[in-house]
Amino acid sequence: MHDASASAPEPDPIGSWQPVPFTTTVGGREGGAMKELKCRDAGFDCEAVVTGESVDEVMAQVGPHVQQVHQTEVTPEMAEAVTGKIRDV
Ligand SMILES: [Zn+2]
Repeated sequence: MHDASASAPEPDPIGSWQPVPFTTTVGGREGGAMKELKCRDAGFDCEAVVTGESVDEVMAQVGPHVQQVHQTEVTPEMAEAVTGKIRDV
């Protein structure tokens, strides 16, 4: 746990962040019940990881990602399968 009031002489590098190509996720709190979906687990050859505070939030981001990056629609069947791949992190 980092405290901003601690006078660290150097800026904290952001190298520990996951290299996701889109960063609409809010938060970064530790210990929260976050959900995570690896796009690869959805059947795409893709390194993107979608996170959110709920399954709905993850799915809300999966749709635009799949449309923009993979040029395909999330079918109801895909949504159902993808929902089953979402894991707690
Ligand atoms: Zn993807």
